[in-house]
Amino acid sequence: MVKEDEKVIPVRVVLRCRPLVPKEISEGCQMCLSFVPEEPQVIVGNDKSFTYDFVFDPSAEQEEVFNRSVAPLIRGIFKGYNATVLAYGQTGSGKTYSMGGTYTADQEHEPTVGVIPRVIKLLFQEKEQRLEWEFTLKVSYLEIYNEDILDLLSPSRERSQISIREDPKEGIKVRCSHRGGHTGRNNSFRCKLHLVDLAGSERQKKTKAEGDRLKEGININRGLLCLGNVISALGDENKKGGFVPYRDSKLTRLLQDSLGGNSHTLMIACVSPADSNLEETLNTLRYADRAR
Ligand code: ADP
Ligand code: MG
Repeated sequence: MVKEDEKVIPVRVVLRCRPLVPKEISEGCQMCLSFVPEEPQVIVGNDKSFTYDFVFDPSAEQEEVFNRSVAPLIRGIFKGYNATVLAYGQTGSGKTYSMGGTYTADQEHEPTVGVIPRVIKLLFQEKEQRLEWEFTLKVSYLEIYNEDILDLLSPSRERSQISIREDPKEGIKVRCSHRGGHTGRNNSFRCKLHLVDLAGSERQKKTKAEGDRLKEGININRGLLCLGNVISALGDENKKGGFVPYRDSKLTRLLQDSLGGNSHTLMIACVSPADSNLEETLNTLRYADRAR
C-alpha cells in the first residue's frame, strides 16, 4: 500500500507550551519562555533557543494542535502507514489535556477536547469516504506499570498482566481480553495506531522516593530513557540500518513496529511556561531536541 517514493520522516517533534495555570499565577510565577511568531522556535530566558518541527505557544487551541500535527498521521493510516503519537513532559505539563484522556461524551463539542476523541472522529470520517472498503477496527487500552503491561479494558477487577509476542504476520501483539477475528484477504492491509500518554518525565531526586515509589520511578525512567535512545537511533542518519535498542523496555518493545520503518511518529513535548518549572522544562526541551 505504501508508495516507495514517499519519504517517511521517522520522528516529528512538536513543542506545546500550555498557559500558566491558576495555581502558578496565584503563586506569582512568571513566564520563562517566549515565542517568535511564525517560527518553530522557543526562547528560554533571554538567550537559549530551541527549534522543533512545530511550536505551539500557549494560545494554541486543541483543534489547531490536532489539525497541524496529528491529522496527517491519521490520513497516513489510510495509505498504509503505522502511526504513533507520544505525549512527553513532566507531570502537570499538559500531556493528558493534549491527548484527551479525560474525555467524557458530554464534552463532544467542547473546544477543549483533545487528541484521542478527535482521532476516533477522523478515523470514522475517513472510513465514510471509502464506502467500498471493508474495515475492521480493533482497540486496546493498556497501561505499562513497573514494566508490567496491564489491560485496562479487562472486565475482571484484577488487571492481569499481559505479555508481548511477535507474530510473523501481524508484528508485535499483546494478548488481552478482546480479540477479533481477522482474515487476511489478498487486497488487505493492516495498520497500527498508538496514542501514548507517557509517564511524567521529572527526575527522581526531587521526590525523595523510597521503596515501591522509587522502583516505580526507576522503571518510568527506564522506559523514557529507552524511548529517547530508540528515537535518537532512528533519527540518526549514520545509524540507518544499525542497531535500534527496542528490547530494553516494555514501552519500546510494545511500540517496536510503530516506531521507525513504515511508521509516522509524532512526539508532542509538553511544557509549563512557569519559571518555577524551568529546570524540568529545560530537560524536556533537551530530550525533545535529541529526538529530532
Ligand atoms: P499531565 O498529564 O502532563 O500531568 P495535565 O494534562 O493533567 O498534565 O495538565 C495539568 C493542568 O494544566 C490541568 O489542570 C490542565 O487542565 C491544564 N492544562 C494543560 N494544558 C492546557 C492547555 N493547553 N490549556 C489550558 N489548560 C491546560
Ligand atoms: Mg496526565
